[in-house]
Amino acid sequence: MIEQYSGITLDNLTICKKCDTLHRKKLLKIGGVAKCRECGSVLYRRHRNLVDYGLAIGIAALIFFIIANAFPIVDISLRGVHQAISLPSVLLSLFENGFFLVGIFCSFVIFIFPFTVLVVFIWIMWLLKIRRGEQAVESLLVLLAKILPWNMTEIFLISVFVALVKLIGYAQIHFGLSFWGLIAFVAFDLYLSKSISIDELWRAKKRIFKGKDV
Ligand SMILES: [Zn+2]
Repeated sequence: MIEQYSGITLDNLTICKKCDTLHRKKLLKIGGVAKCRECGSVLYRRHRNLVDYGLAIGIAALIFFIIANAFPIVDISLRGVHQAISLPSVLLSLFENGFFLVGIFCSFVIFIFPFTVLVVFIWIMWLLKIRRGEQAVESLLVLLAKILPWNMTEIFLISVFVALVKLIGYAQIHFGLSFWGLIAFVAFDLYLSKSISIDELWRAKKRIFKGKDV
């Protein structure tokens, strides 16, 4: 637990996302976790091997993202007609049927934002690992903070589940490789966003490039 705010500069403060309590930041020992005094939720961490850990999880998530998009999610059989449905084919059929706005929105939410978040995250981790491109890391961290709220893959996965449950009564459904790839990707993506915060990446940048123990 860390002590509450007592009148210091803004950079040294952090706010609890759950109960909005303001806290003064403290230097954690490696592997330490700072928790809110009021509600006990995690404020920030200091990972043992943040860069290697983040790089490994990020690359694993990217591999599952590629699998989720490269093969059929489901194979649907209805009255003797079989149809394999993949994520790109869903987006394509939206455009083909004239749903341009929905198609553009879905392309961003399902494909462009998650892909950009992963590539930017891996890029940051790689630059931190090779200890180069301080300015680029700064710009990428700002970009990551802007696009992260638009990453809604878990909501998309839930909507896929709902659609499949509704279809079960009417058609035979066989899950494809991409279905499991999508679940694994969302699991890795959620784990990544819960275990590593932007704030922690900024502090890692300061430690690596400025030599400051923050
Ligand atoms: Zn709290």
